[in-house]
Amino acid sequence: MHPVRILKSATATPRLIVAAAGEVGRADRAGALVASVYQVIGAGSALGVVAAGKLTFDALLTPEQAALGLTPSILLLALMTALSGSIGPLQTQQHRLLGERVSQRVWDRVLDTTARADLVTYESSGFATALERVQQHALTRPFAVTTSLLGLSGSLLGVGAMSAVLIGVEPLLVPILLAAGLPAVLLSRWASRTEFSFAHRLTGLFRRRNYLRQLLTQRPFAAELRAFDSTGPLRRRHQAGNDEINSALRKQVRRRQLIATLTTLGVAAALTGALLAIIELVERGRIGLAEAGAAAIAVRLLSGQLTTFFRSIGGLLESAPFLADLERFVASGPPAPPKGNKRALAEGVRLDGVSFRYPGQDRSAVDSVDIEIHAGEVVALVGENGSGKTTLAKIVAGLYEPEEGTRHWDGSAVPAPDVRASTTVIFQDFVRYQMTLRENIVISDGSRSADTEAENDRAVEAARQAGVLGAARRLADGMDTMLGRDLDEGVDLSGGQWQRVALARALYRDTPLVVLDEPAAALDPRAEHELFADVRATLGGRAALLISHRFSSTRMADRIYVMDDGRVVECGTHDELMASAGQYAELYRLQSAAYR
Ligand code: ADP
Repeated sequence: MHPVRILKSATATPRLIVAAAGEVGRADRAGALVASVYQVIGAGSALGVVAAGKLTFDALLTPEQAALGLTPSILLLALMTALSGSIGPLQTQQHRLLGERVSQRVWDRVLDTTARADLVTYESSGFATALERVQQHALTRPFAVTTSLLGLSGSLLGVGAMSAVLIGVEPLLVPILLAAGLPAVLLSRWASRTEFSFAHRLTGLFRRRNYLRQLLTQRPFAAELRAFDSTGPLRRRHQAGNDEINSALRKQVRRRQLIATLTTLGVAAALTGALLAIIELVERGRIGLAEAGAAAIAVRLLSGQLTTFFRSIGGLLESAPFLADLERFVASGPPAPPKGNKRALAEGVRLDGVSFRYPGQDRSAVDSVDIEIHAGEVVALVGENGSGKTTLAKIVAGLYEPEEGTRHWDGSAVPAPDVRASTTVIFQDFVRYQMTLRENIVISDGSRSADTEAENDRAVEAARQAGVLGAARRLADGMDTMLGRDLDEGVDLSGGQWQRVALARALYRDTPLVVLDEPAAALDPRAEHELFADVRATLGGRAALLISHRFSSTRMADRIYVMDDGRVVECGTHDELMASAGQYAELYRLQSAAYR
């Protein structure tokens, strides 16, 4: 590694570890305190074992000078051994509790970041990969840091106590044991670097494998996979991913096994050295047998504490790059946008010369577009696939900011959060919440408590306007029926019924502008006719931007914009556009010819 990077990581590591310790404390102060008390008891009882061991040897070898009789000494030794042995399992259980709290807190930070990220950030591939890596690795690290920190503090206490005992017997024993430490720390750093680069390299592979697992297991894909008999080829891809992961993992495991063996050998060598030194001291008559026995116990315990100490240091060093990754991810999120205020729409929304390009693309998806949606109007966007309709709709709705040009709301540039708060969008691939019908509707307006009688009436009214109330009445629990089968408890609806639920959701939100992206794609002809014959009544005076491929639905619009390759190429009413005999007239004739 480059010297500057070594220096940087050496200074960053303590800061990250202190930050992680702070997180643990904030996640569960009482739990962290209890865990620390266990560490102190652990170190104290280890010291107790040595002391009781010394008393026992004294009582055995020099009963006349012993402070305690043999039986009480042995009982004390048994008690201390039991205490020191039982603290481990207690700690393990305490750590589970603390670990869950720490994980919840870190998840909250990640969810805060994803919630803040605007749509463009969210859709960029760098964000998705970083999020995946954080989910795969970084989220479990704070717990590892918790365990390591507690292990470190406990073992430091233990090392201190045992060293004090050994210094009393023979100071030389301490440096012999500590000498094992330096290689162990260096080996830990090496382990840390290999682990992070392994995780970094494999993120893409894990993402692809997770995606295949979703395809192969989740209900929405089950029908198509069976119709195409494509589970076989997908399983083969999944297996290829497994093979690649296995081969990379095998190499990494071998590396870690080598590092672990070298570390253990170092500690064992130091332990052997210390025990040989004790024998030498006894032979030279510098220490008595009782002291030698106690020293042997202390050396054994100290080497155990040192193993924990080095393992903890190793754990911290290993976690540091993942913590840095987590911190980078959290910092990468934009600041939380201010809360939007819902506005009325008196005049209308206007886009002037608006262009938008997706990150990493060379062509603009929307190019110098001017459109107007007056209050209460129904405006249609038509055009072939990929002509930029959905992108433009997202700009109108405040989900994307124009790269060039302006978006005016009642004649002034209004902040995007306000535009979002004042607009409702139903996307083509709207969400089918696996919740009750009522929750599916009221989720569009978090600003109101949905529990009141009035809100209940409004949800029912929205369902009625969207034409889903009849179906709701036939459901076992009416508006409180669970929808969807993903969680295995609900009633599934047809595509058209789901679309009406989404429409009810949009109407419940009650904003002056509604964007409908293919709202009738899944409706049968009668339902579509009913929706559009009376769309103005359904909208109840709200302005609407309607994207549709069905000219039967768009012909009643006050104005139709025809898009082609990101630009608006024609604009007018149905009759005007038919008279001008351009692209609209051609597409309209093509579609009606298909019906004739
Ligand atoms: P339409 O709704 O008319 O089918 P879109 O607005 O969805 O068209 O797409 C317009 C263009 O932008 C297309 O070329 C499409 O490939 C591209 N595009 C859409 N979404 C993204 C995205 N998230 N990232 C990159 N390019 C995109």
